[in-house]
Amino acid sequence: AAKDGGRGRHHFYAPDLHSDAEERRQLEQDLRDALTTGGLELYYQPVVSTTTEKITGFEALLRWNHPVRGQLSPAKFIPIAEDAGLIVQIGEWALRTACHDMAKWPEGVRVAVNVSPLQFANPTLPAVVTNVIASAQIDPSRLELEITESVFLNDSDGTDAMFAALKRIGVRLALDDFGTGYSSLGYLKKAPFDKIKIDQSFVHGATIHGSRNGAIISSIVSLAEALDMETTAEGVETLDELDLVRVLGCSHVQGFVYAKPLTREDAEALLARGLAVTADGPRSARSPR
Ligand code: C2E
Ligand code: MG
Ligand code: MG
Ligand code: MG
Repeated sequence: AAKDGGRGRHHFYAPDLHSDAEERRQLEQDLRDALTTGGLELYYQPVVSTTTEKITGFEALLRWNHPVRGQLSPAKFIPIAEDAGLIVQIGEWALRTACHDMAKWPEGVRVAVNVSPLQFANPTLPAVVTNVIASAQIDPSRLELEITESVFLNDSDGTDAMFAALKRIGVRLALDDFGTGYSSLGYLKKAPFDKIKIDQSFVHGATIHGSRNGAIISSIVSLAEALDMETTAEGVETLDELDLVRVLGCSHVQGFVYAKPLTREDAEALLARGLAVTADGPRSARSPR
């Protein structure tokens, strides 16, 4: 991609010679280029029902195929995108791509898209969501927006209005990384979530006996059930963890035990052949990568 000749003019990467600030500036410029010339990609990680053991949907997870550095994870570039205000455009790209991909999949398959607090604070979000759903011609209830507790730190009138506007459109709302953020339960009372995603820090390594994590998971499940919300256990890596979150009543599971985030092609192939759950558990459905 042709650089603009301005502040991002570096033709070779020499990370040792660059300051952190300079590296961030360079990545920010590269990210602007990626938005216009391509380079962003969505991966899809299956979400599986604990009762049917079928895929009910996928979470869309951003990857950036950087021309020089190779594939970068969101941890590396989302913070830069947020600081630079690029997350709003990137988030819109992710919504649009996820909805158009989902339009080719069976009606029963949902896709969850992560929404940054900055997007959530932007009054144009409902119009963007409406527009994307109309152009992809999907049922709005197939789109789930994942929001973290940090949105409740902002102005609460604006937050309430945003929730109401999104619910009017008919999309589903999930509370992501539950238990790691701003820990007031007050917002659960009024925010219209369809699902709570139990953070992987409670799930990974949890055991049933003498486990504080197990106690936390089971109280989140009770709370969710009382509020008529589903629960996804995130970060389930082993068959023991899978058994545990099933016994504790989580309605859905997401994690490497079933599959890592997959390319669109691999996700479609998995949908076509179904999750092969064998007597040994779901190992055969693991991603080859
Ligand atoms: P998240 O929304 O909580 O996504 C779940 C993360 O857990 C993903 O990391 C996923 O690859 C990882 N994961 C899933 N199963 C397992 C497991 O069994 N074990 C372990 N160790 N990890 C597992 P990923 O893809 O690196 O994404 C990290 C975060 O980046 C996401 O956390 C989300 O907050 C953010 N993100 C990703 N895509 C987007 C996006 O399109 N927009 C925004 N605003 N944020 C995004
Ligand atoms: Mg998420
Ligand atoms: Mg999460
Ligand atoms: Mg997370």
